[in-house]
Amino acid sequence: MEKFDVTVIGAGPGGYVAAIRCAQLGMKTALIEKYPSLGGTCLNVGCIPSKALLDSSEHFHNATHNFEAHGIEIKAPKVNLKQMIERKRGVVKATVDGINYLMKKNKITVYTGVGSFADKTHIDISKADGSKEQIESAKTIIATGSKPSSLPGIEIDKKRIITSTEALEMTEIPKHLIIIGGGVIGLELGSVYGRLGSKVTVVEFMDRIIPGMDAGLGKELQRVLKKDLSFEFLMKHKVTGVKSTAKEVTVSALNSKDEAIEIKGDYCLVAVGRKPYTENLGLDKVGVKVDNRGRIETDDHLRTNVENIYAIGDVVKGAMLAHKAEEEGVFVAEYIAGQKPHINYNLIPGVVYTWPEVAAVGFTEEQLKEQGRKYKTGSFPFKASGRARASMDTDGFVKVLADEATDEILGVHMIGPRVADMIAEGVVAMEFRASAEDISRMSHAHPTFTENMKEACLDATAKRPIHM
Ligand code: FAD
Ligand code: NAD
Repeated sequence: MEKFDVTVIGAGPGGYVAAIRCAQLGMKTALIEKYPSLGGTCLNVGCIPSKALLDSSEHFHNATHNFEAHGIEIKAPKVNLKQMIERKRGVVKATVDGINYLMKKNKITVYTGVGSFADKTHIDISKADGSKEQIESAKTIIATGSKPSSLPGIEIDKKRIITSTEALEMTEIPKHLIIIGGGVIGLELGSVYGRLGSKVTVVEFMDRIIPGMDAGLGKELQRVLKKDLSFEFLMKHKVTGVKSTAKEVTVSALNSKDEAIEIKGDYCLVAVGRKPYTENLGLDKVGVKVDNRGRIETDDHLRTNVENIYAIGDVVKGAMLAHKAEEEGVFVAEYIAGQKPHINYNLIPGVVYTWPEVAAVGFTEEQLKEQGRKYKTGSFPFKASGRARASMDTDGFVKVLADEATDEILGVHMIGPRVADMIAEGVVAMEFRASAEDISRMSHAHPTFTENMKEACLDATAKRPIHM
C-alpha cells in the first residue's frame, strides 16, 4: 500500500494548490479527484468557462452596439453558439492541461476516483471501472468543494430548469431566460445570454441584487443592466415553484404584496447559492463534524475536530471563492509544515464579472455602521475619467471608505471598467494599512482607469479631487 505524508481529496483550486504547496515543502503528496479532469468547479464548470463566455459575448455586444460609434462598420454579426462553446471548451482544456503539468512537475501522485475515509489514516479510492485501491496517509486535507443548491419545490431537470453547469453548455440561445437569484452567477450568466439576445428576467428574493456587497454597487449595476441589456428585475419576489414542459418553463412566485404571479420563459436558471459537497466521503466513519449548513467544521487553523484531518475551500465556512480556497490550501500546507501562516479574511476581494465589472474589498458602509465606526467616504465617477470616455465606459464609480480619525482605508468598492483588476490596489493598500492620503499622493499613470482610485482617495481624505 502506498504511504503519503499528506493526501488531498478534491482537485479544485483549494485542493490542487494545497497539494502543490505541500510538495514544495517536501511532503510526499497524493491528490484524489473524482473526475479525470483536474481543476474542480473553478476550471471545469465555474470561473474559467464563465469568463470565456463572458468575453465572447462581450465582443458580440460591442460589435452590435458600440462599433458604429467607434466608426467601425461591419455587416450585422451573427452568433455561432456552437463555436463559442467550443472555444470555451478549448480554454478549459488548456487550463486543465496546465494543472496536469503542475502535478507532474511537483511529483504529486494523482488518483482518479472517489476518495472515502476507511479510517483516520486510510483512504479508499473507488474508480470508475468499479475497482478500489487504498492508500495510507498521515494527514488529509478535505477540499471537496460545493454543488449548486436549489429551492424546495424545484426539480432541476437539466434541460429547461438548469444550473450554471448546464448554462455553460447551451445548444441554443434562450428566447426568455428566467433567472432565480440576483447573485453573482445569475448576473454573470444572465449577462452572457442577455448580450447574445435573450430576454432576461431576474427574480430576486431581496430588495437588492448582489446582496452581500455594498448597497450602492448593486443599485448602479441594476441600473446599467436595465439600460444596456434590457434586464427585467422582479425584486422582493419569493419563488415558490418551477414547472417545465418540453419547450417552456413557468416560474411561480409571490410578489412583494404576497400575490401569486407566474412568469413564462423557455429556460429557468436556478442560481440561489451553492452547498458544500461531502457525499461519499465517509465522514461518519472518522467522526468529522459538519455544521447545520452541511459545512465541515474547522477551527482557526482549518483543523477539523479529528486530529490530522483538515478542510478548506467551499466545503468550509466563508466566501465561496476560488482565491479564498487557494489561500486556505497554502495556509494548511504551511501549517502542517510547522510554519505560522495567516489569512486576513477581511481582505479577500470579491468580483462580479458583469460589464461594468463590480469589485470590492474590506468593510461595506453597512458593516461600518453596524460596528459604530466613524468613517469618511470618497468617490469618483467614471464619467469624469478621460480614459473611460475614450473607451465609452463611463458607467460606475470608485468609492473609498476611510477611518474618520486616522484616514486608514477600511473598504474599497468599485463598479466600472476593469475594476476586477483594479481592486488589487485596494487589497495592497489595505494589507499595508495605507491611509487614503497615502494613495492620493502616489502617481497613477495617465490615462488609466486606476486614476479613479487616486481621485476617490483624494475625495475621502480631504474632499479635494482634482478632476471634479
Ligand atoms: P471545487 O472547485 O468545487 O473542487 C472540489 C473538487 O473535489 C471537485 O473537482 C470534485 O469533483 C472533487 N470531489 C468532491 N468529492 C470528492 C471525493 N469524495 N473524492 C474525490 N474528489 C472529490 N470563484 C471565483 O473566485 N471567481 C470566479 O470568477 C468564480 N466564478 C464562478 C462561476 C461559476 C459558474 C461557479 C459555479 C463558481 C464560480 N466561482 C468563482 C466559485 C469557485 O468555482 C469556487 O469557489 C471554487 O471552485 C472552490 O474551490 P474548492 O477547491 O473548494 O472546490
Ligand atoms: P449568491 O449567494 O451569490 O446569490 C444567490 C441569490 O439568490 C441571492 O441574491 C439570494 O438573495 C437569491 N435567492 C435566494 N433564495 C431565493 C428565492 N427563493 N427566490 C429568489 N431569489 C432567491 O449565489 P450564486 O449566484 O448561486 O453563486 C454561488 C457561489 O458561487 C457564490 O457564493 C459565489 O461566491 C460563487 N461565485 C463567484 C463568482 C465570482 O467570484 N465572480 C462567480 C460565480 C459564482
